[in-house]
Amino acid sequence: MRIGAHVDPTDPLAEAAARDAEAVQFFLADPQGWKAPKPREDAERLRDADVDLYVHAPYVINVATLNNRIRIPSRKLLLGHAAAAAAVGAKGLIVHGGHVNAGDDVAIGFDNWRKTFAYAADSGGFPLPVLIENTAGGDNACARRLDALARLWDALGDYEVGFCLDTCHAHAGGEELLGLVDRIKAITGRIDLIHANNSKGAFNSGQDRHDNLDGGTIDPELVVAVIRAAGAPVIVETPGGVEGQAADIALLRSQLGIGASAA
Ligand SMILES: [Zn+2]
Repeated sequence: MRIGAHVDPTDPLAEAAARDAEAVQFFLADPQGWKAPKPREDAERLRDADVDLYVHAPYVINVATLNNRIRIPSRKLLLGHAAAAAAVGAKGLIVHGGHVNAGDDVAIGFDNWRKTFAYAADSGGFPLPVLIENTAGGDNACARRLDALARLWDALGDYEVGFCLDTCHAHAGGEELLGLVDRIKAITGRIDLIHANNSKGAFNSGQDRHDNLDGGTIDPELVVAVIRAAGAPVIVETPGGVEGQAADIALLRSQLGIGASAA
């Protein structure tokens, strides 16, 4: 089981080494911006690395919304990030489930997700797995609670879609972590990646505020149980820089009874 962290994109492999991480996640462009990612000069070095790479799509992407001025550029940006992520050999592109605005019909949001995959299929399909991540907040979210997730997966039908489970988002979003992996797998059939984060916000608070694993409102043993049940790679998106994240990775390895990386 490979464990790593979300890191600064300048030199992800150096960040991995500093944390003794076997995997890293990073952005390929400003997460709050609409700029398409530029080709990376270190693409070959990244592709050849022993470290598993994951790319997180910008937060501004919302392919579900009924607002054309957000949805259409979101699709394009998602495809651009998929191409750029594949070019560095990433194992997956993580994108938030998105939402519709208050008063809008979430059913259209699910169908907009289907159209996103249809749009990608028209240009040959996504070149790497796209992992939809559960989110913490909002009343009109496509992937906050499992009833919505089930409708989303129904809408996506036969398209190849992955899932990224964020433990902070689940807890703050109002889903109990106990038994959660089985409940999700009954819907998605798979969990491709775990974002192992504690939560500063209380259960069902709707707050997306990550904490280190031994802080926050979640019993760390529950996060470990989720990882064990999912058997998926793990990325911590926790505060504290190298020190804080290295401690979180070490805590997980010790709780899971696995040794440090050989890197
Ligand atoms: Zn996350």
